[in-house]
This record gives sequence, C-alpha cells and structure tokens, in this order.
Amino acid sequence: MNSSRKIILSVAVPIPLNHLFDYLPPDNYDPQHLKTGIRIKVPFGKQSKIAVLIEVKSGDDKNTSKLKQVEAILDTEPLLSAKDIQLLNWAKQYYHHPIGDVFTSAFPTTLRKGKSSELKSIDYYLPTAEGTEVVESRLKNAPKQLALFKFLKSQPGAISSQEIALHFKLWRAPLKALIDKAYVCTSNQPVFDSTHLNITQQTPLIANAEQQTAIDSISTQLDQFAVHLLEGVTGSGKTEVYLQVIEQVLERNLQVLVLLPEITLTPQLEARFKQRFTVPIETYHSQHNENQRHAAWLKLQKGHSSILLGTRSALFTPLPRPGLIILDEEHDSSFKQQEGFRFSARDVAIVRAKVLNIPIILGSATPSLESLYNVDKKRYQLLRLPNRAGNAKPPSMSLLDIRNQSLHEGLSPPLIREIRKTLAKKQQVLLFLNRRGFAPTLICHSCGWVAQCSRCDANMVVHYKQQKLRCHHCASEQSLPRQCIACKSEELKPLGLGTERVENALHQLFPEHKSVRLDRDSTQRKGALKQHLDAINQGEVDIILGTQMLAKGHHFPNVTLVVLLDVDSGLFSIDFHAPERLAQLIIQVAGRAGRAEKKGRVIMQTRQPDHPLLNTLIHQGYQAFAQAALAERKNAQLPPYSYQALLRSLSHEKDIAFEFLLAVAELINQQTNGTLVLGPVAAPMAKRAGQFRFQLLLQHSKRKQLHQLLNWLMPEIAKLKLARKVRWSLDVDPIDLY
Ligand code: ADP
Ligand code: ZN
Ligand code: ZN
Repeated sequence: MNSSRKIILSVAVPIPLNHLFDYLPPDNYDPQHLKTGIRIKVPFGKQSKIAVLIEVKSGDDKNTSKLKQVEAILDTEPLLSAKDIQLLNWAKQYYHHPIGDVFTSAFPTTLRKGKSSELKSIDYYLPTAEGTEVVESRLKNAPKQLALFKFLKSQPGAISSQEIALHFKLWRAPLKALIDKAYVCTSNQPVFDSTHLNITQQTPLIANAEQQTAIDSISTQLDQFAVHLLEGVTGSGKTEVYLQVIEQVLERNLQVLVLLPEITLTPQLEARFKQRFTVPIETYHSQHNENQRHAAWLKLQKGHSSILLGTRSALFTPLPRPGLIILDEEHDSSFKQQEGFRFSARDVAIVRAKVLNIPIILGSATPSLESLYNVDKKRYQLLRLPNRAGNAKPPSMSLLDIRNQSLHEGLSPPLIREIRKTLAKKQQVLLFLNRRGFAPTLICHSCGWVAQCSRCDANMVVHYKQQKLRCHHCASEQSLPRQCIACKSEELKPLGLGTERVENALHQLFPEHKSVRLDRDSTQRKGALKQHLDAINQGEVDIILGTQMLAKGHHFPNVTLVVLLDVDSGLFSIDFHAPERLAQLIIQVAGRAGRAEKKGRVIMQTRQPDHPLLNTLIHQGYQAFAQAALAERKNAQLPPYSYQALLRSLSHEKDIAFEFLLAVAELINQQTNGTLVLGPVAAPMAKRAGQFRFQLLLQHSKRKQLHQLLNWLMPEIAKLKLARKVRWSLDVDPIDLY
C-alpha cells in the first residue's frame, strides 16, 4: 500500500480541553481557502461545533486513518490574522485556559454560532447635485421630504438608513419619494463628497500646556510599542488628548481601538467622537443586540471603520490597520473578566499593543498601583494633567468626625447644616452610599435573631418599599416578616443604612427639596436612568443620592457639595486590594463636584478621622497615597512585588470542595520551586447560592516560576478524581480574593 500525503487541519474547538483537534478537509475544497484564522464546522461527539483553524499540517494514511472530515468551511478569508492568533495563543498560555474557549471569546456571539461573515451590503443615501433652492420650491407641499432632503444636504457624505432613522421617525416614504424624484441617490459606500475630505469636522480645542506636552510625547512615538499612562483628574481634559492623538493616527489611515468600562461608554462620549471625526465609528457594548455587534465587529475586521469604542468584550476585535489602543479608566475592575476565561483586558491590551508594535494609552484619574509600579520600573511613561481644563477648580476635601454625634439615619447635625446651606444657594448636593435597599440587616430586638439567606453566608437586606427581604448575592427573596422567626416577637428592627432609608430621611429633613435616588433598584426600568439624569441636568433635582453608579462617567455641573456618608466600611476589609479601591472610589466620587465654575467641596463622614490612608489621600493627594500603599505592598511582598494565582472550588458538598483543594495543595508540595501555598481556606463568603466555596492562593516573587508551576500543575489537576466532582477555576493575577 502506498501512502499518500494528506492535509490535516488542526482546529480550536470551544470545549474545556486544552488542546487542538485534527480533522481532514472536506471532499471538494479549495486549497486557497484553507488559511489559518477561518472558521470551520466540525463534527464533535454527536454534535457539530464551530471551530477556528489554527494550523494546516500534513500527514500520511497512518496518522489520518482515524480522523473525521470537517463538515464545512465557513469563511473564504481569515477572520483572525496571524497576529491575532499569536495574541490569543499567548493569552491561552498565560491564563492557562482552554484554547477553544479563548479563541471563541474573540468573536461576537453570531460568528460563534456560525453566522456568515459577509457584511450585508448597506445602502447609503446622498442628495444629487440638484440645487437646494430649486428643490425647496418644488417640495413646498411636502414638508417631510423637504426636511429629509435638507438633512441629507447637511451631512458630510452619504449616510445609511440606520442613521436617518436616528433623526426621523417617518422616513421610509419620504426617502422613497425623494429617490423617485431623483433628488437623492444611493451608493453602496459611505462616500464623502470632495468638500469634506477632512478627518475632523470640528476644530479641536486649543490644548493647554500639559495637554500639549502629553500629545507631543505620544505623537513622536506613534510608530512603535510604548505604554503611556495618562494620569489626570476628572475634567482635566484626557478625552481631548485622546481625540487629538487619534486625529494623527487617522491621518495615517490607521485604526483605533478605544476600550472603556461599560458605565462610561455613554451616548455623550460617542457623540463627542462623532462630532469630531468624519470617519466611520462603531460601538460595541452590551446594550447593542447580537446583530449590531456582529456588524460593528466585521466593519472593523474588514477595515471599513476606523474607530471602535467598546467594552472589555471588544478587546480582541481584529484590526487590519492597527494604529493605537486607548484604555480609559484603566484602574477599573470591570476590565477584569470574572468568570470563564478570566483575563485582564488591560493587561492583554498591553500585550496586544506589543504584538502589533503600536502605542497604547492608559488613562485614569486614579491609576492602579500596578501601573504606577510599572512607571517606577520605567516600563510605562507617565504623563500628567494635574489641573482641570477650562475654569473648573479642584474640590476641597475634608473628614467629618461623627464619633459621639447623634446621627439622623446616618446624617450628622453638622452635615445636615452644610447640606442646608448648599441648597439655600440653589446648588445641588450629591450623597454617596454604596449600599442599596433600606437596611443591610433585620434583627429581632427581643432575642437577637437575624434574617439570613438560607443559601448564602449573608444577611438578608431589607427592601422596605417592596416589603421584601432580599439576598444581594443570590436571587433569593421573601416577604418582609411581621414576627421574629425564632421567638414570635414583633420587635423586628432594621439595622444599618441603605440608600432607601437615607432617601426617606431626606424627605423628612428637606421636604421642600426634590431628591432622586440612583441605584440598581431605582434604575431597573428601561429608560429610568436617563430620565433621572435628564431631571438632574435640567436642575429639577436638588439632592442626588446613589451608589457606585454615581462614581463614574456622569457630569453634574451644578453639584457643589459631595458627601460620602460612610467611608469606614471600606477601611476594614480582609482583601489587601481594599484600600486602593477605596481611595479610587473617593477620588472618583469627589470628581463629580464643582465641574463647572463653582468650586466644589467633598465631605466624608468617618469614625476614623486619624486613619493614615484617609489623611494621606485628602491632604497629599492620590499619588502620595499610592506611593504609601505601594510601600506597604512591598513590605508585605504582595503584588505587584509578587505574583499570585487563585484556585477556587465550589460544591454543594462542603467536604468535597475542601478536599479537592487539599489534594491540589499536596500535589504542589511535591514540587519545590519556592511557590508559597496559602490554604485551602474557606472563601470570605463561605457559602453562596447553596454552594460551599474554598480557595487556595499561590504566590511567588517571580512570575516565571509561578507560571512554570502552573504549566505543570494544570494537567495534573485534571487527572484528579475529585476534579470531576467540584466546579473549580484558576484566576491568574486575581484582583479580589472573594
Ligand atoms: P476628562 O476626560 O479628563 O474627564 P475632558 O476631556 O472630558 O476631561 O474635558 C473636561 C471638560 O473640559 C470638557 O468639557 C472639555 O470640553 C473641556 N476641555 C478639555 N480640554 C480643554 C481645553 N484645552 N480648553 C478648554 N476646554 C477644555
Ligand atoms: Zn426574636
Ligand atoms: Zn443568598
């Protein structure tokens, strides 16, 4: 038997196994199409799966006799470039995560399910050369057609029906009429007419000295990989710096990827980009449906669009002409994916910039300690915007000692006076409390019984308006009991403070002033958040009360007093990341104050007025705090001075969850590479949604050593019998230990 050479396709299949699978090509295939980065439909068990072609190899009859044929080749051109594949391979290696899962995460859901990667051709509309006056006189009796015609005339180029629909409710019939009369014609490209060949359609602001330094410094290094950390307080003009650097990248006909936390990717920001640039801009976030994300991804991938504004999930979007990556609010924990493929979009974005040899800008008012450490190590270049742009002054910050004060639902008398004074000046007040609901605890005054979640290691939260007890960690809820479950007493008392309770107090204390509460409960209804924000911006609201939701993205120009009702709860966490988070939160919330001409004030209520963290932060600023916090981390040999990986286990059976990690710890102890093994211990929340949770922390002063251990360990864990009885995960560089 003579053996002939055969082609083998190695593909990444989205299943939790960390290797590639080999297949044979289909019968009638075009060898031209077998390029790495295309999608392929393969038989897998009893199902079919959508896989990605990673490697084309050759084999002979011997090693191909058992291979199955692929079912279909889905793309004629690769969706992922060689650099994309290189990056995803790096991520798979670094996060020790199954390769198929990592590759799948690069695609929008539609492409994962096998939808065609051809872009539906879109029609664009533009007015014909017919003079405006002529058309105007002829359309006198057709006001809808005339309005649409004038609108199209005012555009820099041809626009899609989607864009028309944003401005007109009834447009189909008028548009058709205009086309029939030959006042409007269609084009299959968003062509620009020759008078609008500029990239910018709005003149940039005149940069101040610090902004100009930052812009120049980045602009001279556009041809190479460099990490620029742009540190600037809220309102210092970071976005303006981004826009001016982007302009230069667009002039080179390159593409820009802008990553933002979900909450700061607002329609206002999108509008600001679209006002500035004439190039096609796409957005990619959870508010878009599958088809919108599909189109945005492909428009970048095919090079039709030049800018992508997206959240973490947009990180891997392929760019045929990459020029710049920007990651705004780089300290924000939402850049870390906390389930499945647990990656840090910030860290991977930096590696992506390196692979592509392009610059990346990280922006923040409160840079992460890791990034500041990298500045110290000269790996990143620090650019600072210490002042607010325009006329806005920085707010003054002070601590308000509430020890021995009689509090009215969490508000101290001096604070109530300050709020009153501010309101009397017709200025707005913002109150921050990071706890929704009425009270975090319901306790029996007679016997001390506390309402607890039966499925979690947590107290039930009182939601008074809805007369409910709710667990904020699982979906459990029940109606508010009238009697103590233990002793039948009716003396049930809500203990502690939530936003709903403070809202009631505000109604009592300031009955003549309108207040609005912004938290997950009050903004659940679609459109509710926008409604509240509009009311605030139109000055219909005097007092704004809210949670975390207030800390980012929003601009409240008439707010001059910002109050943090309770900073103490953030001071005593067992997680070493907590002080950093708290300091960032304080600065971010403070940044909401006095953004316009009026100077703002920030008051923090505390029972720890001498706390070193708080004092360093308010008297010396965030940089001083960060240096002190880094010194503490160094002393304790905590990240970024060491490297961590956290193994978590989950099971309905407590013993199994524990024993699994115990077995893993024993495996590791056979090795002696100096990795510190802490645990297994119960997670800080030992039970959640009915499952027991344990964790094992691995730490090493050298990243390489830790990863060597993990390389060896992961396949060993997979061999453990217990591994099949628990749910477990690995979190490389964990950002919280919960
Ligand atoms: P950040 O992104 O740091 O919060 P922005 O770029 O949004 O800051 O700027 C804050 C405000 O200051 C915006 O209203 C912006 O138009 C204005 N601004 C920024 N740079 C300048 C400048 N050089 N001159 C005048 N106003 C500016
Ligand atoms: Zn009781
Ligand atoms: Zn629960």
